[in-house]
Parts: sequence; C-alpha cells; structure tokens
Amino acid sequence: MTLSEAIQPNDSGLQQKITYILPITTRPELCFISGEGNYLFDQAGKRYLDLIQGWAVNTLGHCPPVMQQALIEQSNTLINPGPAFYNAPMLNLASNLCQNSAFDQVFFANSGAEANEGAIKLARKWGQINKQGANKIITFKHGFHGRTLATMSATGKDSFSQLYEPKVPGFTKVPFNDLESTRTAIDKSTVAIMLELIQGEAGIIPATQKFVSGLRELCDQNELLLIVDEVQTGIGRTGPLFCYEYYGIEPDIMTLGKGLGGGFPISALLTHKKYSCFEPGDQGGTFNGNPLACAVANAVLTEVTSQDFLSKSVENSVYLKSRLIRLCEKYNLPGVRGKGMLLALSTGGIDAPAIVKRALEDGLLLNAPRPDTLRFMPALNIEKSVIDEAMTMLDKLLAEAV
Ligand SMILES: *Cc1c(COP(=O)(O)O)cnc(C)c1O
Repeated sequence: MTLSEAIQPNDSGLQQKITYILPITTRPELCFISGEGNYLFDQAGKRYLDLIQGWAVNTLGHCPPVMQQALIEQSNTLINPGPAFYNAPMLNLASNLCQNSAFDQVFFANSGAEANEGAIKLARKWGQINKQGANKIITFKHGFHGRTLATMSATGKDSFSQLYEPKVPGFTKVPFNDLESTRTAIDKSTVAIMLELIQGEAGIIPATQKFVSGLRELCDQNELLLIVDEVQTGIGRTGPLFCYEYYGIEPDIMTLGKGLGGGFPISALLTHKKYSCFEPGDQGGTFNGNPLACAVANAVLTEVTSQDFLSKSVENSVYLKSRLIRLCEKYNLPGVRGKGMLLALSTGGIDAPAIVKRALEDGLLLNAPRPDTLRFMPALNIEKSVIDEAMTMLDKLLAEAV
C-alpha cells in the first residue's frame, strides 16, 4: 500500500493517523503527497505554490532532477560504508566546499544544530589549548542556533529561556547590532563570538556592515574565534554563495545546513587548518559524511555554483523584492527586509499569522516568523512568472485583510 493509497481525500484515516504523531507543533490537517518545482500537492490533489520550501531548505525546489539523479546513482553504488572510512562523495563535497569558500577543512553532520554543536565544541577545545581554558561564547538576543540543549542555550529566543532547565552554561547574550555591548561583554574567559549574519527565525534582521566589521576587529584584537551560523543564509540563499562574502569579512568557523542538501539532511562545519584541534575520538557521529547525503549536496552545490545560476537568482530576487515593495506602497505597510531569496514583509497592523492561514486555503504557502512579519524563502530558481502568480494571490489576501 502506497501512502497516496492509504490517505484518501476527506478520509477519517488521515485524522486517525495524525493521532500517532507526537504533537510538537500545530500543523494543518492535510498530508502532502508530491512536489514539483515550486508546487506541492496534498492528499486531495490540491496544489500549493510554495514560498516556504521546507523552511529555506529546498534550494532547487521540490524533487529537482539533479537531486533525483544523484540519489539514484549513489544508491546504486554505495549507501553506507560507515563513519570510520572515507567515501568518494564525502571527499568530493569537502573539496568543493573548500574550493568555493574561505575555508580549508570540513566536518560533516546531519542537522544545523549538530553542526553548531561542533562549532561550540571546536571553540571550547581551542580555548582549552590556546587561551587557558577560556570557554565563554558571546551570542545575540533573538538569534537562533538550533534545538539541542547546547544550541538552545546559545539561542537568544525569549521563549527558550525557561525551557528544559538547567541550560548549558557558557553563553553570554548581548543585543544584536550593538558593538559596544559586545565589547563590554568580552572578558578573559571569552573564546568566541557566534552570530547569524541575517537573523532568520527572528524575522529577517540583517546585521549592519559596521557591526560585522566591528566584530571581526574585536575578534582579532582579543584573539577570539568568529563563528558565523550560515545554516539559513548559506548556499546562495542571500545572493552570494555565502552571506559573509556580502559583508567582505572572513569568519574563522562557518556552519551550514538547510539549503546544503536541498532537502536531504546534511550539515557542515567549515574552518581553517590553524583552528583544527579535534583529536581522534573528540567528535563524530554515525551518519556523518554518509555518501548518499554528500552526493546529493554535491549535486546541489554544483548546480548553485554553475555559471549564471546565482546571478539569475539575484535578478529574480530583486524582482520579488520590487513586487513586495509595490504591495507595501499599495497597502501602506512599513517595508521589506532581507537579501536574495530570504525576504520579509512588515505587515504593520495586519495579523501576519492570519494571512498565512488564509493563504493556505487559497493554495499559497507562506510563513510568519512574527505577528507582524511574513517571510519569503522560495526556491533559488523560482521564475518571474511564478513570482507574479504568488504576488497576485498575496495582493488579494492583503486587500481582504486591510
Ligand atoms: C534552522 C537553523 C538552525 C537549526 O538547524 P536544524 O537543522 O533544525 O538543527 C540553526 N541555525 C540557524 C540560523 C537556522 O536557521
């Protein structure tokens, strides 16, 4: 029995099966069966234009042929030799990532949180060896780094602050884009500063150029590691292949996740050889660097770094932004934030989660990271005609809401 046979339109079977899922979030009562490019299809055959794309994950949209091809070829060749051995896709992906970035060594993991855990561990180990055991990491209010205990402890979300106590110690949170507070927070136990260059979950809040340049200087002056969490901003999401390029700085450690596998779970930590201080046994993971994930990520990276891919994506993102700005003017909304295919529309007094709910009914998938913000994270290869279709739908929803 295939899934589509098991789940029927308006079938009580769907409601019954939903009860077997441990409820950790509110999900609409539907079940997605298939996807193609910018569209998803549910159990009733209803089509949805997807501007969420797996939470800024599906770099090339749903079920792109290059990913299918990589999965088929690699699954015919080698699926899992185990983490104690090298495999060809692992080596190819690591060298491709290094050749396209400022880094020269890679550690692979399976989720963004796991890559960030690796970054926290690497910084702590480095501090132990080089800075008399300094282990404190400065992170930022409203920043998001994941849902393991350590990454929740690093996260600056208010709703996390009382959850699952006691937290992992060693994180100092300061206001984002506030260089003076950051400077004041540094003491001799500080080993690193960790940030998102554009805070994604907070609602697309970009770091200022002055702040990022200032952090690089503070790190150089105080011998601290600068860790950028590019789990959401990496792999072309904001225009350049990595968001740090836009700011013209070089971080000491970078983490990737989400868009790296284009929908297949894989993440990575990248650093420079001079900070590489894990010894055998210090760090690892059963599925890390597995061939299937690495082969798919390689296919995605090859596509994203191919000629004209990113310049075309930037051109279309500028078009999307201009369409959003037009809606702002039409409905007198506060404005548009973000870069590339990571954009947010401030909805002012309009209830953004209510728009998201109405959009779902109309067959448009949107996200509201805040009560007054809509977030747009489409496939990087979305075309202008699909943007037009989405903006026509959004226009109608805003007209209803004002
Ligand atoms: C999504 C996200 C994470 C967590 O990634 P998971 O794969 O969910 O563990 C970490 N940092 C940032 C910036 C993210 O957007």
